[in-house]
Amino acid sequence: MRVLESPLDSKLAERATAELLEALGEEKVTTRRAILFTYSGTALPLPKTMPDVVVRPKTVEDVQVVLRIADRLVVPVTPISSGTLEPSVFPRAGGIVLDMYGMDEIVEINTDAAYAVIEPGVGIGKFVRAIRPHGFRATLGSYPPGNSVLGNYHLKGHGSHRASGIDSEVLGLEVVLPDGTIVRTGSKAFEDRYPGIGWHAQWGPLPDLRGIFLNACGTLGIITKMAARIYALNDVQALPVMGFDSYGDAVEFMKVVSRANLVEHCVTWHWGLYTIMNILASGGNVEDSSDYLKIFMTEPWEHPGDRPYCLTLNIMTGYEDDVDTHTRLLEKVAKGLGGRPMNDELVERFPGTWDYFKTHGIDHEPCTHFMKGFGLGYGFMHILYAEPKDVVPLERFGLEFIWNRGLQYGTTYYSHCLDQGRSIFLRLTPFVDPVDEAEHEKALSIYHDYIEEGMKRYGASTIRYDGIVNYVDRAGGFGELLKRIKKAIDPNNILNPGLKMYEGGW
Ligand SMILES: Cc1cc2nc3c(=O)[nH]c(=O)nc-3n(C[C@H](O)[C@H](O)[C@H](O)COP(=O)(O)OP(=O)(O)OC[C@H]3O[C@@H](n4cnc5c(N)ncnc54)[C@H](O)[C@@H]3O)c2cc1C
Repeated sequence: MRVLESPLDSKLAERATAELLEALGEEKVTTRRAILFTYSGTALPLPKTMPDVVVRPKTVEDVQVVLRIADRLVVPVTPISSGTLEPSVFPRAGGIVLDMYGMDEIVEINTDAAYAVIEPGVGIGKFVRAIRPHGFRATLGSYPPGNSVLGNYHLKGHGSHRASGIDSEVLGLEVVLPDGTIVRTGSKAFEDRYPGIGWHAQWGPLPDLRGIFLNACGTLGIITKMAARIYALNDVQALPVMGFDSYGDAVEFMKVVSRANLVEHCVTWHWGLYTIMNILASGGNVEDSSDYLKIFMTEPWEHPGDRPYCLTLNIMTGYEDDVDTHTRLLEKVAKGLGGRPMNDELVERFPGTWDYFKTHGIDHEPCTHFMKGFGLGYGFMHILYAEPKDVVPLERFGLEFIWNRGLQYGTTYYSHCLDQGRSIFLRLTPFVDPVDEAEHEKALSIYHDYIEEGMKRYGASTIRYDGIVNYVDRAGGFGELLKRIKKAIDPNNILNPGLKMYEGGW
């Protein structure tokens, strides 16, 4: 496959810009350097590159125009939705940034079939506020209200509705390919012949091609619409929190209660992170400064002594009688595993943590609590998921591995129960100095080695492409098929070539 040079040849960039300006006008196309600069970076400590031109389309036809020009001239296109860049999206190969945030319509809220159709620029805050009056909510992560729903969900986002066994929040997609072809997935594939058909089914009589666009990071097509699952708010919302003295007990708990369908979702928080969360959410004004000391003075795998080793948050909605009974059952299961209900103590001792849990899990509102953490530096995402029996030793291994190799600041974690505990997600959260380049190099090598060791020793897998590990070459026949699909869809390799996903990363 063609590998694009970086930076792009300036004559080619000029020609592409001229054609884009001619087709779409100055309102949608800019080369102003101050604006280009804002698209040059990433939230990971990786090098920065300027795009040559930024396009903000308003319609699907605009997207088709951009892709046809880029494909004919062979110019890289880096799509972003809200561009928070956590998975290191930026125009490493130069060329066009296609900023989809201006396409921000909620096209349909279908309360009968419980889905909503949105454009890429719809933020999670706007989304939840639009569906709530209809009695619905959406899956939330810890990202702030301005983050696009699409940017998260199509990367198989992990949030507040994942213990129950549902495969993804994405019911269907509309995607534009480099030659301008429009693809719709699931039941909507038949739209051209049967106008008015809905998005209600994820797949039909043909293979489920929706999946090839999930986690593809814009390398196989530009998504212009998404049908997203939405969930009934029901009569009451509840959030029983249980405390455990070991991660193993918490994992067992999540497995049991999700398989018994007692919860919609459960997430376990290590003591370091729920303590940091309390400090962040209180703006640093915690009454007892021993919390700061505890984080700095205690090795993260040690029991903190005066608080549970971890907390498990259980997100529930339903009829009141049902939720009350489920809550009692959760307490019974927790006690059987040596745990205890924590709600009163949490409100009293960790009000900031409770505020975050409540905003997220009862109010179902996106919030900015986590953004404050970015004041601590670059949040580095050591994410692995593994089978329950493997994730328990992985937790200890991971904390020791990262801490002992030198990333001691914020080495803590949260852990989601996925798919009724078939797999358990574990995200360690060390922070890295934003300006210290030597530390960035070290952090990248620690990250790389952690993923490698986790896969080798604990049969773990990771989520999302990171540009750091060569997953395609590790994936055998699957990797081969993926390369063939890429070649067939995007023979000129114009879609997000800066990620180097098919060439093994950077
Ligand atoms: C504070 C914070 C907390 C977070 N917490 C969570 C969490 O709890 N759970 C979780 O799952 N994630 C979490 N994230 C990660 C976040 O959800 C992802 O970074 C997500 O991608 C953000 O969406 P975005 O629109 O900004 O993505 P972008 O950065 O715009 O894009 C992400 C990727 O998708 C591609 N892309 C974007 N738009 C399109 C399109 N229209 N068509 C095709 N490809 C496209 C891009 O090229 C890129 O590769 C968090 C991030 C932050 C900053």
